[in-house]
Amino acid sequence: MNIPDNARADILIQALPYIKSWAGKTVVVKYGGAAMTNEGVRQAVAQDIVLMGCVGIRTVLVHGGGPEIDAMLRRLGKEPAFVGGLRFTDEETMEIVQMVLAGKVNKDIVALIQREGGKALGISGIDGGLLRARRLAKGGADLGFVGEIVKVDAAVLDCALRDGYVPVVSTIGTGIKDDDNYYNINADTAAAEIAVALGAEKLILLTDVPGILRDLSDEGTLVAELPRAEIPGLVAEGVVAKGMIPKVECCARAIEGGVSRAHILDGRHPHSLILELFTDAGSGTMIL
Ligand code: ADP
Ligand code: MG
Repeated sequence: MNIPDNARADILIQALPYIKSWAGKTVVVKYGGAAMTNEGVRQAVAQDIVLMGCVGIRTVLVHGGGPEIDAMLRRLGKEPAFVGGLRFTDEETMEIVQMVLAGKVNKDIVALIQREGGKALGISGIDGGLLRARRLAKGGADLGFVGEIVKVDAAVLDCALRDGYVPVVSTIGTGIKDDDNYYNINADTAAAEIAVALGAEKLILLTDVPGILRDLSDEGTLVAELPRAEIPGLVAEGVVAKGMIPKVECCARAIEGGVSRAHILDGRHPHSLILELFTDAGSGTMIL
């Protein structure tokens, strides 16, 4: 790139106050959807995560894997099914979710971060008792082994963070007491609960749209700032639907739980993470 030296220095110096203020803080990033299927974007996210670690941000990466799970279900002759943005998870689907998320997607992300020079540690919500869940009851609809989180034990994350690892979390969890089922937990929701449990400063959800749109077909209708109180109305009107429902709801939950800021960003744009953290170029939707 043909950038004059003074401009290069300017960019670094402009980032200085942000870098200083972020050192030692905790940021939880959730990554899924289209941001995960494009190779170039996957690499850019991994580079951002490594950079965040280098400037002293305690970074936790929580991942989904919807497209990979869909692809594996289809290979095995099963059609993916959703209810209100959540995957209907029968016993066989749960087994596939576990294999794809904890076995494949998780390790691929860990390897990618390490290729970019970072230290990553892949764990599922089962490991260290991180995520404990029970069968989600949502409006009477039977979602099978979709779990709602009952308890987060973030000790395993603290251990990894203390030793300089980026924990990479796949969001399956175990039942409580004598319930020995495994549960498929929406990754947005898990990211929010983990952010609360860690006392994180920021929750960032990377997805495949610019943020919350009033009209999905028009990116000009981006809602830059959304007060929590307006969320139920937008869901009731159907403006916020499908996979965006757990996102807005969990951003609200994170804020209520003490996380200072929650953002929904376009993960398709390379380096949207470091632009959000280290510049004043606000993008996406911030929940207030
Ligand atoms: P991810 O894999 O990142 O969790 P999801 O597919 O679960 O992605 O959720 C994001 C999707 O939510 C978008 O691709 C879009 O189709 C849908 N969506 C529904 N309502 C809205 C809205 N108002 N604004 C933006 N996206 C919306
Ligand atoms: Mg989703």
